[in-house]
Order: sequence, then C-alpha cells, then structure tokens
Amino acid sequence: MEYKITLARPAATPPATPPAPAAVTSTNPKTPSPSLNGGLGGAELDKVCAASVQDLMATIAKLDSNGVQVLAETPDPCAPDTSTSKPATHTNADPNEDWCAVCMDGGELMCCDRCPKVFHQYCHLPTIDQLPGESETWQCLLCVNFAELPPDPPRPAGAPAPPALTPRQLKIIERLTLELYCQYEPSLPFREPVSLDNTDYYSKISSPMCLDMIRGRLQGGAARYSALPQYLRDVRLLFRNAYLYNPPDSQIYKDAKRLEEFFDAQLVKLLPEYAYWQDSDGDSPPKRARYE
Ligand SMILES: [Zn+2]
Ligand SMILES: [Zn+2]
Repeated sequence: MEYKITLARPAATPPATPPAPAAVTSTNPKTPSPSLNGGLGGAELDKVCAASVQDLMATIAKLDSNGVQVLAETPDPCAPDTSTSKPATHTNADPNEDWCAVCMDGGELMCCDRCPKVFHQYCHLPTIDQLPGESETWQCLLCVNFAELPPDPPRPAGAPAPPALTPRQLKIIERLTLELYCQYEPSLPFREPVSLDNTDYYSKISSPMCLDMIRGRLQGGAARYSALPQYLRDVRLLFRNAYLYNPPDSQIYKDAKRLEEFFDAQLVKLLPEYAYWQDSDGDSPPKRARYE
C-alpha cells in the first residue's frame, strides 16, 4: 500500500497551473469512450479535473457489458509482486494521480495498487478505517473486478425471493455510489443536504435526499439499507427531487440528468437485473416511512 501526501488545493479555486497534468493523463493511454465523454463540457472543467474524469471514463471504457473489468494489457507497475521495488521506480514515474478521485483535493492520500486512483480515507467508499500495512496491497473499490468476487451463497431451495442485501450486492451499490461521487462536476450539487435555511426548497421537497445521506445508509446505523430496492429508491429520489425543484434549463437540472444517465449506464454493467427496475409506485414519490 502506497500512501502519498500532496499539498491540499484551496477548496474553491483550482490552481492556476495544474500540477503536471501530462503525468496524470499519461497514466492511462486509453481513449475515453466518446459517447460517455460527450456530455462533459471540457471548458467548464479545469485541466486536473478533466484529466481525472478522463481516467475514470477510461476505466469505465475498460468494462465489458457484464461489468467485468478487462485488465490492462501492459504489466501494471503497481502490481503486488513489484511492490518491493516501488521506492526506486516511483521517484521518476508515480503511476498514481495527485488528487483524490472523490473531492479533487490533495493531502494524505491512499494510492490504489491496481489503478491510478488515489483517495482520502474518508472519501473512499466504504470509509477506510484502518490503514493497510506497508507490505500489503490495497485496491480501491473503483477498480474491483466483480467477476473475481465470490458469488453470493445459493438460496436454500424453496426460500422466498430477494430478501436481504447480500454482501456482494452491498459491495456493488457501494461501487455505484463511489462512481457517482467520482463524477466530480455533476455530483457536486448532490453531495450534501440542501441548507435548512432554504425554506422554499423544503416547502416543495418533502423527502430530501443527497449522496452523503446515501453514503450514511450504506455505512451503517439504524437506517442501513437492508434490500436493494431501498437503495435504488433513494438514488432515484435524489434525481426526482432535482427535476421537481429546478427548472429544466438550470445547470443543476442538467447535472442531475447527466448523473442519472451515468448511473443508468453503470446499473446496466453492474446490476443488469435492476437496470430497468421500476418501483411498484411507478412515478409517485416513495414514502420514506415505507422502508424505515
Ligand atoms: Zn477526498
Ligand atoms: Zn483502484
């Protein structure tokens, strides 16, 4: 496990000169899928952010239709067996990015040993409570190949269909949520709850939802998700609230559309059986009391 410390970026303003963007983009030679990348207005992103989004898109482009990641053809410089020689090889070519994939900030970052992504412990999903040892390898959830994960234990014969969230399903919805956070620009308005001072918002939106609330329900507590539909309802609620409150020509509405289209594409890859899942309530807003 590699741990790096970079200078934190000022929260609001990106640096005038992005730190070595060429080094960041060169970590991934793959061209991002044009169809996925088309919606991103390059001008509105700073270079560092654009490079990171491109890397993410390239990671996504490497997923086949079953959500199985096709590993890079070239040997991974971060592969576990080379970890002992890391200090020497890293001085010239650090294969990892410089900014957290979730918050685009620097600081103390965990470097994935299998892909270029880096994360703050509290930004990764699930939160990394305990640092892996120096000699251990660490893989971020963003590059986990779900084909390598153990399948869920078979249901006993005659058992009623989909009950609780299985460990595999939990990992998949954590991945889906992490993917949403890593869509840096479009996810920004949906990370934190709308301020309680915004009485107009709360007079129109009765069931607020945001990514941090979803993260909270993934990580534990009384409201922890116990079945997949609960999670899907929350994600759809987040988008529906955005469409309900914001005019269609507003940036936040467009961000929601962009993010939901991305989410749908991820569902097809990672959770195809739920890609076209419809809440039994159809278009009516879910009532929170139903699953709490
Ligand atoms: Zn972060
Ligand atoms: Zn990774």
